[in-house]
Amino acid sequence: MLAAYTEQNELFILNSSMPLATLHLLRKSKKFYCPLCKQQLLFKIGSLKIPHFSHFSKSHCDDFFSERESETHLKGKEQLYNLFKALNLDAKLEAYITTIQQRPDILLKDDDNSMFAIEFQCSSISKESLIRRNTGYREENISPVWIPNTPTNITRSGIQKISLSKNVQQFTLCSKHLPYIMTYNPTVRQFFYISNLIFLQGNSFLSKVQTISVTHQQFPFYIPKPITPNEFKQFLLIYKQVKHNYVQKRVLLSRSGVNDIFLRRAYELRLNLLSLPYYIGIPLIGNEELQVFSVDWQLALFYFVYTTKIELRHMKGQTIYYFLRWAKLPETSRAKDVVSEYCRLLEELSVQHSYQSIHEKKLFDVLYNHFLAI
Ligand SMILES: [Zn+2]
Repeated sequence: MLAAYTEQNELFILNSSMPLATLHLLRKSKKFYCPLCKQQLLFKIGSLKIPHFSHFSKSHCDDFFSERESETHLKGKEQLYNLFKALNLDAKLEAYITTIQQRPDILLKDDDNSMFAIEFQCSSISKESLIRRNTGYREENISPVWIPNTPTNITRSGIQKISLSKNVQQFTLCSKHLPYIMTYNPTVRQFFYISNLIFLQGNSFLSKVQTISVTHQQFPFYIPKPITPNEFKQFLLIYKQVKHNYVQKRVLLSRSGVNDIFLRRAYELRLNLLSLPYYIGIPLIGNEELQVFSVDWQLALFYFVYTTKIELRHMKGQTIYYFLRWAKLPETSRAKDVVSEYCRLLEELSVQHSYQSIHEKKLFDVLYNHFLAI
């Protein structure tokens, strides 16, 4: 905790920029109390964490905090609070909202009197508690803003391959239909925006990472801009490379004696795996719904229409569900939509069979529009 009451019942906010001598003097001369249970608090000044308050023993109050207070959490909370203060906003640190028994890291009121609960999240949180907490805030007309701690593998800006846990993925925000995740790293005092996520496989994505220093942040928070054609070109180049490596690995594995249905299908379609047509294995929004690399299910689709003699332009509704079941892919409506969009794009590219060739430029235009149109 960083907020406490003095004996005079005044709110006191700890600030790690206070000189050590001042902190020690404060600890010696004053007593501090929990704003909630009114019990006296420990004033901790150490080398492991920034100065903070804590209860003498495990307290019921701790339940109202989003998580155990790690150094990262304390630091991030303090820095975000200082940001809002610098922006002259009405910010309350660790304010307890009695009606819903929730205590956001920062409760914010903007110039239009709209309320926001800012939560700097350093530990994982289940989908259920996230929904429960958000429901609580909305009941009080408070908009929750979750800012996860920047994952440790993300340290620079630019278009890159990243790994994102399911926990961080659930903090995806949507603005003008452009999904992105706004994270904060208190060690370098920077926001890391993770946008334009393109699913690869597992927890791997391609993404554009942008950084903004806490001193340059604004409120409402900065929103990332759509990617430019040049940036998208970079995306596709990396994607092509990842796809190539992925297929190469499968071919190598099969030589060591693994029976791979993917390779068998390619063989029957007379496709050279190391120079697949551009349109087999293309990135699509929502590909994560299918849980496998694009080249896997897209090749399966071509094999499916080849064996069933169904024309690609007839791949709609129930037929797609039939395909999903046949290919052992998730039979969800969102997975169906992704397959349906793929078939639509193929139609736009006038692709009917797996042995056609298309211009890379045409594919680029179609995909760029697909990623911008969301
Ligand atoms: Zn307490």
